[in-house]
Amino acid sequence: MSLQVAQRGYTMFKKLNIPVAGLVMNMNSVLCPSCNHMFELYENNLHQFDELKLLPRLENIPMSEDVKKCTHTQVPVVVSQPDSEISKTYFSLAHKLFHYLGQLHQIQP
Ligand SMILES: [Zn+2]
Repeated sequence: MSLQVAQRGYTMFKKLNIPVAGLVMNMNSVLCPSCNHMFELYENNLHQFDELKLLPRLENIPMSEDVKKCTHTQVPVVVSQPDSEISKTYFSLAHKLFHYLGQLHQIQP
């Protein structure tokens, strides 16, 4: 379902010449609070989307207990728990986007 929405967005971005850095799989998995194992919630049907499957896979952002706590405290997880697995994922995503934007605009990071 959400990949169909992503496909519609991608089609619109292409029409408008808006560059697309890649694909972020958001909340299609769960990060176990006990052992940090990440497991997928849904069958991965990305292979059915000819254009999306060719995009760089930037990150998987799983559902996480650490993020759930942040919705109550209103402090971002990358601030409250910068060393957590989920924060590492967000930092990695930010890093990839930073480099993508640098290449896009020919600016040295
Ligand atoms: Zn576990």
